[in-house]
Amino acid sequence: MVETIPETIPETNANCLFCKIIAGQIPADIVYESDSAIAFRDINPQAPTHVLIIPRKHIATINDIEVHDSALVGSLYSAVRDIAVTEGFADDGYRVVMNCNAAAGQTVFHIHLHLLGGRSLGWPPG
Ligand code: AMP
Ligand code: ZN
Repeated sequence: MVETIPETIPETNANCLFCKIIAGQIPADIVYESDSAIAFRDINPQAPTHVLIIPRKHIATINDIEVHDSALVGSLYSAVRDIAVTEGFADDGYRVVMNCNAAAGQTVFHIHLHLLGGRSLGWPPG
């Protein structure tokens, strides 16, 4: 008999900090949850609002995103839009960043969008 795993069961990595937050094993200030994503406040905020939006599925870096992850990655931006409205800066503006690997300073290897808002943001970033 072939065992089939329902798509609703996300892939996780037992050693991953953000998978542990998803599992409730590490506390976080969660501001958004959907079937595919969760968002929580960054522990070291770089703006008045600094939220991390992550897929429930463990994907280490942008380089590991596969074609069938398109809808999942798109859902991260739906979360961004909703959180920006809730936080009150959707019209004023905000920034969304995803770092990839060492040169960009990625430190947690479970993809996450940084949502930064509530102040003016310089460009280009450092
Ligand atoms: P990056 O450097 O792009 O990989 O971003 C990782 C982010 O995760 C940093 O902004 C950290 O401040 C944040 N971070 C690390 N640990 C936690 C945690 N336990 N709860 C919330 N944010 C965290
Ligand atoms: Zn993970």
